[in-house]
Amino acid sequence: MSIDVAAPAVTNASFTEIAGAIRQAESIAILSHVRPDGDAFGSQLALALSLKQLGKNVTVWNEDGMLEKYAFLPGSDMLEKPPTEPSTFDLGIALDTATQQRLGLAGEAVSAPRWINIDHHVSNPGYGDLAHIDWSAPATGQILFEFLSDAGLPIDSGIAENLFVAISTDTGSFQYPNTTARTFQIGAELLKCGVDVGRVSQLLYESYPRRRVELLRELLGTMRFVADGRVASFSLSLKVAQKLGVFPEDNEGLIDHLRAIEGVIVAVFFEELIEGKVRVSMRSKDAAADVSAICQKFGGGGHKMAAGARARGTLPEVEERVMEAICAAVESLNR
Ligand code: AMP
Ligand code: MN
Ligand code: MN
Repeated sequence: MSIDVAAPAVTNASFTEIAGAIRQAESIAILSHVRPDGDAFGSQLALALSLKQLGKNVTVWNEDGMLEKYAFLPGSDMLEKPPTEPSTFDLGIALDTATQQRLGLAGEAVSAPRWINIDHHVSNPGYGDLAHIDWSAPATGQILFEFLSDAGLPIDSGIAENLFVAISTDTGSFQYPNTTARTFQIGAELLKCGVDVGRVSQLLYESYPRRRVELLRELLGTMRFVADGRVASFSLSLKVAQKLGVFPEDNEGLIDHLRAIEGVIVAVFFEELIEGKVRVSMRSKDAAADVSAICQKFGGGGHKMAAGARARGTLPEVEERVMEAICAAVESLNR
């Protein structure tokens, strides 16, 4: 069965409705997905800082807590790991999170009568009471900029830096095809609010720990190509991860080295996890090779050109099943 992800059946709540729900609430929990990225953290902290200025009692939780790499973000000390016992809030807000389940333990720790879901994943089913899913937006941070502006909520320099990080990381520094003229306009607005683009970009893209490059060296050793060089993959076993002492977040973005190869249409990265699961991360250079649709076959999702899944099985088993599905999709392009 083919999965049609072109037009999600979501009726979006308006920014006015969302602002109304926020204004009515006193205590608000702001959450995002497990294995957070710059869009997840930047969106959470930007909204949290803005709503704090509105006088709201804001809680910011992420299953993984704050990662070292993003600790420079303004307000990063607000972000905490969720407690094991659930707490009650007037409102829960999920940002940049394709499914409720991807909120992980943070989702389980929040009990709220009302939920807002703001996201840009094409696979987001529109869970929650007020959902605003804009899959034309390259980052949730871009939707939040529009929302904060529309609702007349504060955007100071710290909020702007968080939004800039959200947008920069999800667009590959304003490079990916979903980057629009509006994205650049928003980038300019954020710079006017005080973002130091040189400083932020150096912190994001030129401050990696050495172990990340050592990991890349190992991954390149496992690199393989199939489908006449149109599909490239590499894999990380638990054994190698332990040997190098790498953190889960160290591999974020390494898949881009595969996507950057001439002739490659789909890049895939396999990461062995504990409990007999494998994290699959996919990137495409051609919207016709829809990796979100492929990942949905393995219980995951994402965007047409960047998607992921957590598949059950050993590393070689998952590699075989997933490579087969990718090859079928790439072969059907008939080029
Ligand atoms: P990643 O490869 O982990 O950077 O993820 C690429 C994109 O796919 C991101 O936008 C993720 O939010 C999304 N994604 C990754 N894993 C999953 C999953 N298991 N379910 C749904 N979406 C996912
Ligand atoms: Mn994200
Ligand atoms: Mn995102």
